[in-house]
Amino acid sequence: MYCTKCGKQLPDDATYCDACGMRFEPEQPELQYDPPKTKAEPKQNEVPNAFRKWVKEQGLFCLIAKAVAVTVMAFYLLVAIVHMISLAVAGYPGGSIFAQFFAELLQGLSYGVIIWLLSDAVLYLQTLVKMKKQELKNK
Ligand SMILES: [Zn+2]
Repeated sequence: MYCTKCGKQLPDDATYCDACGMRFEPEQPELQYDPPKTKAEPKQNEVPNAFRKWVKEQGLFCLIAKAVAVTVMAFYLLVAIVHMISLAVAGYPGGSIFAQFFAELLQGLSYGVIIWLLSDAVLYLQTLVKMKKQELKNK
């Protein structure tokens, strides 16, 4: 290679010119692999962004209500599992244990779904009120 500043012949792997002191940037092959990486990143961020947008739309009250709904469902699931184990240990027949388990699970799920839907209804009403207020402001 030749120095780009003074034209002196140098070894191919030279990082600087010993005649004029010109420094040469070392080749960075890893830079060539960057574009595919940055292209792939937005796809990975789509789900968290959608979730963040959803959380923003909910507002504090509806978010707490939905957290309660999920907690209720998780709690009932846990209770149903513990109950199932205790019935199994007590020697109850498998059929009645599973019937009991699904009855408790269904109860918990329906409570959770009811709370969830109620919070959605509240959210819907809040949006309606907001739109009405906006309408009145524009008049
Ligand atoms: Zn030079």
